[in-house]
Amino acid sequence: MRDRLRRPLTLELSSGCRDDVVVGGVERLIDGLARPFAEVGVLLQGYGSLSPDARRLRLERALALLDGAGHAARSPERAAEAPARRGPEPLARSAEPSVPSVERLPVGGLDRALADRLVDLGAQAPRKLGEVGVRSYRDLLWSLPRRYEDRRALPHFSALESDQIATVTASVISRKGMRSRRGMHVLRASLEDARGQRATAVWFNQPWVENQLFPGQRLILGGKVKRKGRNLEINVTGFEVDDEGESLSFGRIVGIYRSTQGLSQAYQRRAAHRLLAALPPIPDHLPRSLLEREDLVPLDRALRDAHFPPSDEALQRAVRRLKFDDFLFLELAVLRSRDGAFAGRAFRVSDADVQGFRESLPFALTGAQERALAEILRDMREPRQMARLLQGDVGSGKTAVAAAAVHVAVRNGAQAALMAPTEILARQHYLNLRSYLFPLGVRSELLTGAMGARERREARARLASGEAQLAVGTHALIQQGVRFADLGLAIIDEEHRFGVDQRRKLLQGLPDVLVMSATPIPRSLALTYYGDLELSVIDELPPGRKPVETRLVNASRRREVYHFAWDEIQKGRQVYVVTPLVEESEALEEIVSTTGLTEDLRQLMPAGCRIGMLHGRMPGDEKDAVMERFRRHEFDMLVSTTVVEVGVDIPNASVMIVENAERFGLSQLHQLRGRVGRGDAASTCVLVAGERGRKTQQRLQIVARNADGFKIAEYDLQLRGPGELRGTRQSGLPDLSIGDLATDGAIIERARELAQRMLAEDPALEAAWARRLRDELSFRSGALAFREVI
Ligand code: ADP
Ligand code: MG
Repeated sequence: MRDRLRRPLTLELSSGCRDDVVVGGVERLIDGLARPFAEVGVLLQGYGSLSPDARRLRLERALALLDGAGHAARSPERAAEAPARRGPEPLARSAEPSVPSVERLPVGGLDRALADRLVDLGAQAPRKLGEVGVRSYRDLLWSLPRRYEDRRALPHFSALESDQIATVTASVISRKGMRSRRGMHVLRASLEDARGQRATAVWFNQPWVENQLFPGQRLILGGKVKRKGRNLEINVTGFEVDDEGESLSFGRIVGIYRSTQGLSQAYQRRAAHRLLAALPPIPDHLPRSLLEREDLVPLDRALRDAHFPPSDEALQRAVRRLKFDDFLFLELAVLRSRDGAFAGRAFRVSDADVQGFRESLPFALTGAQERALAEILRDMREPRQMARLLQGDVGSGKTAVAAAAVHVAVRNGAQAALMAPTEILARQHYLNLRSYLFPLGVRSELLTGAMGARERREARARLASGEAQLAVGTHALIQQGVRFADLGLAIIDEEHRFGVDQRRKLLQGLPDVLVMSATPIPRSLALTYYGDLELSVIDELPPGRKPVETRLVNASRRREVYHFAWDEIQKGRQVYVVTPLVEESEALEEIVSTTGLTEDLRQLMPAGCRIGMLHGRMPGDEKDAVMERFRRHEFDMLVSTTVVEVGVDIPNASVMIVENAERFGLSQLHQLRGRVGRGDAASTCVLVAGERGRKTQQRLQIVARNADGFKIAEYDLQLRGPGELRGTRQSGLPDLSIGDLATDGAIIERARELAQRMLAEDPALEAAWARRLRDELSFRSGALAFREVI
């Protein structure tokens, strides 16, 4: 009888629990089962409708029962829990305490509280899991492992080598704690592995572990191996008690959950496992056809496999699906938030106009510029409002591309405006754009706060009458009294320096919007961070640009650095020296550090060296005046904090010295480096490290070795996390359950594409197929936050 059951069950287990081994289904076997096999019968009840994971668990238990191993000692924790259990009596519990509960979670049960005890997770579950914020069954389902360990084939003791860091599983034979002569607590446990070989596990100064260990208990432990003659010792760095008896913690790929005090890994695994066993198939919010097209596994499969991966491949597919969902809902929320902002104007874009622009340039656009321009023109042609981010490293030629868009707008009889964050930048843009567009007959206007009242009044009149076709300026552009005859295109430079309100003002007439940024944000982050902006990237520099040589030196060699700077100055070049802000709020510090450094340098440099100084506490027009004098080469060296503006273009400056470089973000260093290398001279950036640590060296090496701002930003993102990418903490980044902004670029793009397609077909997601999707979206929206750009 025993064998009549054992053979088919073993076969079923080994063939993947598909209920196709026994003719008529596994449940047929239990018909007419008499004692002592009744418990097996209880286990196999309803087998056909269980998930594969639940089936596997049942089979393993049934086989264990048949082997007489089903009555293993219960763990102290469970023994303590069982009598205290309240709530409805689970169906199968009555038969035998070691048989798991098999009640199914009712429809809608996912959103019920654990405290409702619909599934038997143990008496303490609501309290214990509540401490980590898990209150509902849904919370528990979505508390996914943080990482995974492959414990399918843990080594036997005989395979371990000295100094190896290993994970093993073994049973406790005995344990004994004692104090060493030097007062250290040493706990030693004698262990036996599956082959009967022995080893000693050692814990230092963790006396409490002693009470957690019992003879006969199975442990999974990791640590450093030491062989001492024939003795094997493991200095334990982490361990788990495998007290569920369900092999959830070894012999498989094991998920490691967020660990907290008082909530063991085994406990979390068991809770997840019981929930999954009780959970009817989770309905998918994506239709099957979509899953196929995107090559995604069903949600039910993904969630189950993410908790208990049957294989590497299944795990990867599960993670991909869950990440995809994270980003899909994020993008749906972001795109839908643009409600009503769609109506814009459709420009006529004629090949002749674009060709005319190309021909008036003194150079040919790069491939990347052409690509970005094509994307912009496509948007401009569409009747809906353009909202596009044009991102490109410093000097990649964004302005030329923007000029082409201005030309097209003007040829359509509309006006264009470019808003820059500072006077210096506004004036520079004005000069550049005018040089591109004047030959094509475009009438440009500069409007800044520094202009005299009469000048400003006249400029405003020309904007209102439509006589001026392009306005370049600062905030002055959006001040009271500024009116455009017909604003069709708004370009915003380095938009992150403007507040939402300021941008809104410029956008009142719903012109097409182009945002330019030299801040190299990795694509994945940009898509999410800028939410509702389409992205064009210029990822190629114009030909013939000389790379800036970057050197990394220690502060002990400063003298040589400034010798070199003086050599360059004598060749007629100019030098930037940048010192970090101690804290943005510490105004005094800033002045002290720049003035201090300036004083130092006046001592250090030869008398003939003309040194200027700039810091953020100076009034705007004073700053501008200093910049302007530097541009006119009235001094050779400019000492400043990071106020050297992004985008300031002084071709004769060929040396950038950054003091205390370790205090800057990597992207920031790259931006600073971009201030030089704009002329014909070979340029140099010297990063002076104020401290010698190896980590510092490694970080700075990334900048020294990479010329690509995007690559550097990727490293920055990985080192510092998305919140700090721009040097200051950003709030409003979305809370993703599993997706990772730093590394999931490819998935984000696919999800975004799909979100766009869905909304194009069905803007309100009203179709029958989208019902679940819409529910899930509103369910998740609470957790999603994103930045408002337009
Ligand atoms: P960005 O705005 O991206 O910093 P700019 O548009 O100011 O870059 O261009 C930087 C410099 O490169 C300018 O002097 C510009 O004239 C020049 N430039 C732009 N595009 C090209 C190109 N395709 N070939 C050669 N030079 C270019
Ligand atoms: Mg520029």
